[in-house]
Amino acid sequence: MSNILVHPLSDNPTAAWKEICKTQKLFKVNVKLPAKPPNDNQIRFVCMSDTHSLVHNIKYDIPDGDVFIHAGDFSRCGHIDEVKEFNKWIGTLPHKHKIVISGNHELSFDPKFIDVFKKKFEPSSRHREIFHCPSYGKGEDDIKEAVHTENIRHYLTNCTYLEDAGLELYGIKIYGTPWQPSFGNWGFNLERGSECLQKWNLIPENTDILITHTPPVGHGDLVCSGIRAGCVELLTTVQERVKPKYHIFGHIHEGYGVSSDGKIIYINASTCDINYMPNNLPIVFDYPIPEGFSKN
Ligand code: 5GP
Ligand code: MN
Ligand code: MN
Repeated sequence: MSNILVHPLSDNPTAAWKEICKTQKLFKVNVKLPAKPPNDNQIRFVCMSDTHSLVHNIKYDIPDGDVFIHAGDFSRCGHIDEVKEFNKWIGTLPHKHKIVISGNHELSFDPKFIDVFKKKFEPSSRHREIFHCPSYGKGEDDIKEAVHTENIRHYLTNCTYLEDAGLELYGIKIYGTPWQPSFGNWGFNLERGSECLQKWNLIPENTDILITHTPPVGHGDLVCSGIRAGCVELLTTVQERVKPKYHIFGHIHEGYGVSSDGKIIYINASTCDINYMPNNLPIVFDYPIPEGFSKN
């Protein structure tokens, strides 16, 4: 049982952070690629997020490593063609292990969203606007097809897809979850407060590396308009209960970068910038292999 409480200012993360930050440490962390390859006692993690079907526009080489992580929004609307294309691309990467979660743009992965869509679809519905995805350039029929693809995750054959689930690699416990505070009626949207907290309560206490799509409040969550968009209960959960070594996310593109509270390292790995240009570099870190485990 978790004893994390919903913050009274949960609905207003900007105001909540103003209160919370009075008792917080906050450091900026250097994001440079490590100069040397990892030694035998370390696992190299390479993190990206929010590539939005633009991987072919990336102008740099993806750094090699042991584990590749993508923190969601790999597509524009989760159309099957996008999923297949992403799967093909991730299959070309050299990393031994590849871990992917969904973001709000992977509409076809969210059964709740599909359900609402199927019931509400009509020419005047605001869902139609979402499914129109102007930049995607697909017609209504294609979009309908996107959400009617059963078990879309089965098309991700070249990676491990985590949705409220974990896995252990080299004795390192990793957990991934796609949910974020509601914004603009997308996939995996939940109300701020107890709805979000219920999902965070599923994260096991011994998680070493946590992957979410949304940032927690206060780290990598500052929107260009000056407000904070991170989840208050996610910060409380990671700091007070889960205490991972690393928390990896994306979603707020302009929040790209690394920070720390002195205990946990927070990585906003958004590859796309605010203009959906895939300009930001992957974020790379080396994790010491726990005692009793090895690279083989
Ligand atoms: P995406 O549509 O790729 O999930 O998010 C793209 C951009 O939308 C972010 O970089 C951010 O500027 C904005 N955005 C996403 N979620 C929120 C939110 O909850 N609140 C605010 N104010 N902006 C958001
Ligand atoms: Mn995004
Ligand atoms: Mn997003």
